Amino acid sequence: MSRSAHPAGPRHADVLTEGHYSAPAADLNVLDEKVWSRTVTRDADGALTVGGITVARLAEEFGTPAYFLDESDFRARCRAWSEAFGPDADVFYAGKAFLSRAVVRWLKEEGLNLDVCSGGELTTALDAGMPAERIAFHGNNKTVAEIERAVEAGIGRIVLDSFQEIVRVAHIAQRHGVRQRVQIRVTVGVEAHTHEFIATAHEDQKFGIALADGQAAEAVRRALSLDGLDLIGVHSHIGSQIFDMAGFEVSARRVVQLLAEIRDEHGVELPEIDLGGGLGIAYTSEDDPREPHEIAKALSDIVTRECESAKLRTPRISVEPGRAIVGPTAFTLYEVGTIKPLEGLRTYVSVDGGMSDNIRTALYDAEYSVALVSRTSDAEPMLVRVVGKHCESGDIVVKDAFLPADLAPGDLIAVPATGAYCRSMASNYNHALRPPVVAVRDGEARAIVRRETEEDLLRLDVG
Ligand SMILES: *Cc1c(COP(=O)(O)O)cnc(C)c1O
Repeated sequence: MSRSAHPAGPRHADVLTEGHYSAPAADLNVLDEKVWSRTVTRDADGALTVGGITVARLAEEFGTPAYFLDESDFRARCRAWSEAFGPDADVFYAGKAFLSRAVVRWLKEEGLNLDVCSGGELTTALDAGMPAERIAFHGNNKTVAEIERAVEAGIGRIVLDSFQEIVRVAHIAQRHGVRQRVQIRVTVGVEAHTHEFIATAHEDQKFGIALADGQAAEAVRRALSLDGLDLIGVHSHIGSQIFDMAGFEVSARRVVQLLAEIRDEHGVELPEIDLGGGLGIAYTSEDDPREPHEIAKALSDIVTRECESAKLRTPRISVEPGRAIVGPTAFTLYEVGTIKPLEGLRTYVSVDGGMSDNIRTALYDAEYSVALVSRTSDAEPMLVRVVGKHCESGDIVVKDAFLPADLAPGDLIAVPATGAYCRSMASNYNHALRPPVVAVRDGEARAIVRRETEEDLLRLDVG
């Protein structure tokens, strides 16, 4: 990765030596296709277009800030995942990354399954016609009411997250006279984020049941003994924004080892394993994500090899990508407002949104890129920090990036790769109106989630 100082001159000298940012791309007008959705390009006048529509037209029709989602890219990514894993595996889209009824219909049409982790997500999925048997229900604290609804709907699987939940789900299923298909979420002792994985100090968190000290084996014993449950497999999710397959390798090995122990103790070979989601995407040019077919091959090779050595039938694999499907398909469009140059430091560029539409920078120290998209520019690069309009100095959208020095109020800038965990984590802080999500495809744009209005705010305020 390149961290070399950029030759902008002495004005940025002290920050340049800190190296918290990447050097500017040789030409700021060039859009790195790694971070932009597939149909994004610049038109003859230099304006960014997506699905054949320029950002100026999109801003005029839908306003800013707004998320623009490249529908054909979303569908292509769904197909790439499902083709990569093939008919002997299942791809569950993790709805928490971004869920709406249109998204559910696309998933259904493209043959994917869906993970939900709340009653609200379940309602959205069912309302949009996702067959219940293609839905999996996650969460460390599902309420009794949520479990009831899931069981009544005939949901495909519930991923059990605790000893109490094993009993709770068994009870509810029995009361409904059904055997609920379930998996047990185990904590394999691996935590992976971005380029690293840690194989210790992992059990100290709220999800799952630890493999260590026989907890998971005990959970399996209890689940197998309860009439209301049909235990179909074991589940492991190790982290997020992962590039390195080593964490999955350890996880798969430990899960298969548990399947072998279950076979030895109970004489049953559980038919499925779920290896979770967490696959990384490119937020900046420095990220190099793997393609779905590489991931599929790596995972299935690991599982096949481990099963052969444990003399187990290879179980059906499922995976749960959220970010890797929706993340790269959308960008957030902002209008530039106040521009404040801080001599010797950097220039603060304020936009008409902020932490209310993208909390990830403040929450996870996430890296993003940004580009001037309403026009091109031949001006020198200037080091900027893109900030929002909220009453919080941590309200940062892009920590360090380069934009052309002639940037002016009224210009449109866009932050790519905001499809995942931006609208779904959006808030009303400062009574901000949450932005719309607009699907763009083949020269047509339509809001799939409309912009919130002040009437929406007042409607909830019933005092
Ligand atoms: C969050 C989550 C996912 C999806 O993670 P991504 O990083 O979006 O791929 C999948 N499975 C489980 C259990 C999760 O909690």
